[in-house]
Amino acid sequence: MADLRDLYQEVVIDHSKRPHNFHKLEDANRSAQGYNPLCGDKVTVYVKLENGRLRDVSFEGSGCAISTASASIMTEAVKGKTAEEARNLFESFHDLVTRGNAPDDRATPLGKLAVFSNVSEYPVRVKCATLAWHTLRSALESSESVVSTE
Ligand code: ZN
Repeated sequence: MADLRDLYQEVVIDHSKRPHNFHKLEDANRSAQGYNPLCGDKVTVYVKLENGRLRDVSFEGSGCAISTASASIMTEAVKGKTAEEARNLFESFHDLVTRGNAPDDRATPLGKLAVFSNVSEYPVRVKCATLAWHTLRSALESSESVVSTE
């Protein structure tokens, strides 16, 4: 587990300092805002949805290292996937950060998202890690309302 912890630290710190896809998506046709009042994390997720597939995904916002890194890694993980695949990935990710392990589902491999497995040891951090995902799901459902993790 020590190796995974080191990897976790490294990947999370790297993505929180230099988040990927961190900009407004000018040709987005879906977007949603999310807010985690427990920590103060705010995120806006932009999606360019074409024929049911996430052609491009980006985000803006401010928050703690975990929320920023999770949003950054999420945009990479879901880009090119169908909306249904993205939802399935969120379910696996949610299991990972709440239980510490994900169902052995080869259809939705977690890949780099696995670095968040030890978030399950810090329940207050689960909302930081899942904020961007809740917001993505809201964007895909075309809800214009602000998402709260509460
Ligand atoms: Zn946070």
